[in-house]
Amino acid sequence: MSLDTPAARTIDRSGLRPDGPPREIVVARTVADVQTTVRHAAELGVPVVTRGAGSGLAGGAVAGDGVIVLDLSGLNRILAIDPVDGTARVEAGVVTADLDRAAGEQGLFYAPDPGSVGISTIGGNIATNAGGLRGAKYGVTRDAVLSVDVVLADGSLVHLGRPTIKGVTGYDFAGLVVGSEGTLGIVVGATVRLLPKPARVATASASFATLEDAASAVAAIAVSGARPAVLEILDGATLAAIDAAEGTRLREHGEALLIAQTDGFGAEEEISVVVEALSSTATGVEWTSDEAEADRLLAARRQALPAIERVGRPLIEDIAVPRSRLAEAIGRIREIAAARDVPIFVFGHAGDGNLHPIIVADADADGDIPEVAHHAADDIFALALELGGTVTAEHGVGRLKREWARRELGEAAVALHEQVKAVFDPRGILNPGSAF
Ligand SMILES: Cc1cc2nc3c(=O)[nH]c(=O)nc-3n(C[C@H](O)[C@H](O)[C@H](O)COP(=O)(O)OP(=O)(O)OC[C@H]3O[C@@H](n4cnc5c(N)ncnc54)[C@H](O)[C@@H]3O)c2cc1C
Repeated sequence: MSLDTPAARTIDRSGLRPDGPPREIVVARTVADVQTTVRHAAELGVPVVTRGAGSGLAGGAVAGDGVIVLDLSGLNRILAIDPVDGTARVEAGVVTADLDRAAGEQGLFYAPDPGSVGISTIGGNIATNAGGLRGAKYGVTRDAVLSVDVVLADGSLVHLGRPTIKGVTGYDFAGLVVGSEGTLGIVVGATVRLLPKPARVATASASFATLEDAASAVAAIAVSGARPAVLEILDGATLAAIDAAEGTRLREHGEALLIAQTDGFGAEEEISVVVEALSSTATGVEWTSDEAEADRLLAARRQALPAIERVGRPLIEDIAVPRSRLAEAIGRIREIAAARDVPIFVFGHAGDGNLHPIIVADADADGDIPEVAHHAADDIFALALELGGTVTAEHGVGRLKREWARRELGEAAVALHEQVKAVFDPRGILNPGSAF
């Protein structure tokens, strides 16, 4: 569906459908547009569902019956890049890759790099505290946000945080807004950190006979002293899907693949430490500091989701477990796949213990994701909690995971969330029914 159709502005990429048509769709071009819309909504008591690019996977931007959809993708100016301060001032609708590209022209980069970097917006990334491939070394969006400009539920504009790297005056409200999924306020702008572009990059890829061997290598890297920027894992089912789509022969090298990348002045030295750790259990390891070769090694990770999408309609999940329990988590997900008789492909950011189990079941006649996929997802969420992890590492709670989020948080923490929500949004007009 193209974004030119109003209906496209009522959904995201979760597969969830709106329960009715929105009352209005507002495409904001200025902060004043956002303020006017929110004031109007507050007066009428009408819910506002804010959206960036609608690339979310948790149903957070899915509109409901009678709501006002507030689209911020038109608020897309990069206002300033300051190489000395290492910061950028942006409007919320700037596409993540556009900021990274603009920073690159000044020898800098924007570290958070979700797989959706080419479409997602900085505002959406802030609202979901998005992660990405480079999270293993550079953290998530919260680590890159210094300040946010937020339109509150009464239409007023506040600046939270500060443009300096350090600063502890007052509560960390900017940090609170990051990850609040449009429920506390509407992010219209931000000051974010930029970092010097790494002088060198080195990339390694290793095959493993078993998932347990790959998980052992992740543990070996964790204690090796090296800190790879990227550490990705792909399971055998995912490798087989890539082979089918791309004509490669990844699966025959083993049941798991790890891809690691180091960066900075000592990238080659650091990758040699990573390669040694990988070699303790790998059946084969290769590494390179050549850019084109690195692209070839990283291709498997890039091709994973498109290859799985060729198998069927995916339900993309997003748990995290302590790194020490990665093998157990993947093994148990396999058991869930067998018990539910539904294919589940697993890849993810091993360096963060963040797994994306992708459940693929044939869609029903209406094109809805079938119940069996949701049952398998429930089993996976229960597993994540049992292993001391979380039901969402980076995609957010949205409308899809509310019950599980409440279970994870517990009664006292949920009550605290509700009190904070009441302070920011006493009439409950900001994205009700989503997140907490
Ligand atoms: C192929 C693919 C790969 C992906 N890979 C990753 C990944 O690696 N890591 C990751 O974290 N996510 C990933 N995602 C999920 C998604 O891209 C992220 O959640 C992203 O941050 C959403 O940005 P968006 O602009 O599309 O926000 P939307 O989907 O429009 O909105 C997401 C949520 O944020 C709220 N929101 C949006 N803008 C604002 C704003 N300005 N102020 C307040 N609230 C707002 C919405 O109400 C909603 O709750 C992926 C998605 C796809 C389709």
